[in-house]
Amino acid sequence: MNPKKLTLATKAIHGKKLYPYKGPVSLPIYQTSTYRFDSSDDAVRYANGDTSVYVYSRYHNPTVHDVEEKIALMEEGESAALFASGMAAISTAVMTFVHAGEEIVSTPALYGGTYRFFRDTLPDSAIRVHYADPENLSSLDKIITKKTRLVYFETPTNPTLNIVDIKQIVAFVKKAEKKFHTRILTMIDNTFASCLNQKPFDAGVDIVMESATKYLGGHSDILAGVIVSTQSVIGKIKTTAKYFGGCADPFMAYLLFRSLKTFELRVSRQNDNALQLAQRLEKHPKISRVIYPGLESHPHHSLAKKQMTGFGGMVTIEVRGGVKAAVKVCDSLNVAVNAMSLGGVETLVSIPVYSSHVNMSEKELRQHSVTPGMIRISVGVEGIDDLISDFEQALKKI
Ligand code: PLP
Repeated sequence: MNPKKLTLATKAIHGKKLYPYKGPVSLPIYQTSTYRFDSSDDAVRYANGDTSVYVYSRYHNPTVHDVEEKIALMEEGESAALFASGMAAISTAVMTFVHAGEEIVSTPALYGGTYRFFRDTLPDSAIRVHYADPENLSSLDKIITKKTRLVYFETPTNPTLNIVDIKQIVAFVKKAEKKFHTRILTMIDNTFASCLNQKPFDAGVDIVMESATKYLGGHSDILAGVIVSTQSVIGKIKTTAKYFGGCADPFMAYLLFRSLKTFELRVSRQNDNALQLAQRLEKHPKISRVIYPGLESHPHHSLAKKQMTGFGGMVTIEVRGGVKAAVKVCDSLNVAVNAMSLGGVETLVSIPVYSSHVNMSEKELRQHSVTPGMIRISVGVEGIDDLISDFEQALKKI
């Protein structure tokens, strides 16, 4: 049986381990930093490029390897590299392909950590980032130059849940590659959608990244990040990763492997809960706006229907009364948890101006379309009636 042809639910449970695979059903944890050689010939083989020789866990580890193999299969890519966090994955991949004097083109509505990495750290390495208007992607034509090495974007965006047209970005990049006779890689942060709801490789994207801290991990108990791409791209990223050192820990990899077994169940339920909560809150008088790609009122609903297979578990609301009202609502919830992050089985709420978009100027907040009254909800898998009642009682307090 070809594991690539299985459904996502089956891939997430079994990976490539189908009959006649024999061995433990659960994943063994190789909690080791180093590996004993049969003889020094092994060291020589490794030095000559034989990557099947295990030498040191910063380079490779069997527990980590099995998780990488499973996620590559789920994301429908050739190969994957697992990291200690999403930011380790992003920074390592970016620094692998973009060097001093070269440029990145991006869309401005990015996860705050990525945006700050681009704004505060990359200039020290003489790497410039130019931002395209996501509502007018034809601006890419002017912004991509012969110095561009990477086009980096997110969709749905954080926290405004805008949908960026993936196929259109890829088309502009292909055109620019022809014009400048150069290779320009496209990289997407697929964290908000996750591989259940969005398959960027189908649209021609080169590199897919997910913060596995979120939906892949799903239990708010690990930090992890993953990059999926061709074997050649992942080989290059893994070489940089050796020196940057953001490698995955075997115990984290075990927890992630375990979590993946319920990935499809969890995220399907989160999709359902998010839609129901969004529909209910849309009618609430104390809420001025509900942003959810699955609502017909969402400005990019038809694009979301075209490029996503589900609308995800993230809902953003804007309460009347600004940040004070947003704080009151978040502090009054009993079931939903007032905490940063997303993608866990428990519903989490956060106020973007105090979390993902803290330390941004008024201009930058406007650029990201973030307003003070926004509450970002990462909808969990609790009973939907409990969630609706919880939000209704908290909204009564403002
Ligand atoms: N990308 C997105 C969309 C995120 O929301 C986050 C974290 O919140 C990251 C990347 C970074 O991931 P990590 O926190 O695992 O480093």
